[in-house]
Amino acid sequence: MNILCYGDSNTYGYNPADGMRYPADVRWTGVLRKLAPEHTIIEEGCNGRTAAFTPEDEPWKDGRGYLKACLNSHKPLDLVILMLGSNDLKSRFRASPEEISEGIRWILQTTGDFLQEKQGFRPRALLIAPAWIGEGITSSPFADSFAADAVLRSQRLAGLYRQTAEDLTKAGVLQCDFMDAAEVIRASALDSLHLMPEAHEALAKAILEHLYKMEGKNSCRYCNACAPCPSGLDIGRINRLYDLARAGNAEQKLEAEHEYRALEHGADECTGCGRCNFTCPYQVEQAARMGEICRWFG
Ligand code: SF4
Ligand code: SF4
Repeated sequence: MNILCYGDSNTYGYNPADGMRYPADVRWTGVLRKLAPEHTIIEEGCNGRTAAFTPEDEPWKDGRGYLKACLNSHKPLDLVILMLGSNDLKSRFRASPEEISEGIRWILQTTGDFLQEKQGFRPRALLIAPAWIGEGITSSPFADSFAADAVLRSQRLAGLYRQTAEDLTKAGVLQCDFMDAAEVIRASALDSLHLMPEAHEALAKAILEHLYKMEGKNSCRYCNACAPCPSGLDIGRINRLYDLARAGNAEQKLEAEHEYRALEHGADECTGCGRCNFTCPYQVEQAARMGEICRWFG
């Protein structure tokens, strides 16, 4: 899958210890890339990015304004992970959690509609309510930007985001799942806003777990636990090539096509016996998927 991670400084990888950027393999996006190499992880984090307000001095940080250019640059996208809202809690915006949530709704609605037009299908979405602003925010290096009430307002975002995700899914705008980062991570004690490396790792693992749940039945993990296939098919390899041929970059697609054509046994030799359906520990409906793969490669 092509996965766009659209967020703020906690997606960019701001290090609260020195104000620099964490190395790529420390940021949650990098950890996710390492844990799930079958996916293409696209990092789009920007310090100070907002969901519902335009900073007058730096309007380019408005997450709504940059959205379409970003989507169009990275399409085709299968999944958009959205984690925004903390910067909207800055005192200058005087924002209610409801107003912030409306910005999130707009971003997701626009994502679904715009990508339907530009890539011919709506991506899935995973909306993440950000980690709470920490109690120590008024004595942190960001005390000038946040007042004490930002703590409680940050805690109200999750309920509103969950409802937003449900509404958008029901309306058919896009299939939107929800995750509350506060269930797995806390902002660092250093600035009550940004994440320490352990939190980046925990967040990546929680997201991956969530992705596996979202992928549900018909996502093959290429493990070949279902082997042997009576028709001699290398089920894991065929599935990997299929996924690459659909969602890889241009070079990967060509390689996947080439490798698939060279297989001794292709999906067209599947008899639909159903043995792999029965033995797959992830309940992948593989027999049906083989038909799909057969149609894809022709
Ligand atoms: S069908 Fe299931 S057991 Fe077979 S390779 Fe895929 S995930 Fe593994
Ligand atoms: S359903 Fe197809 S792929 Fe699965 S075990 Fe039977 S022949 Fe092999």
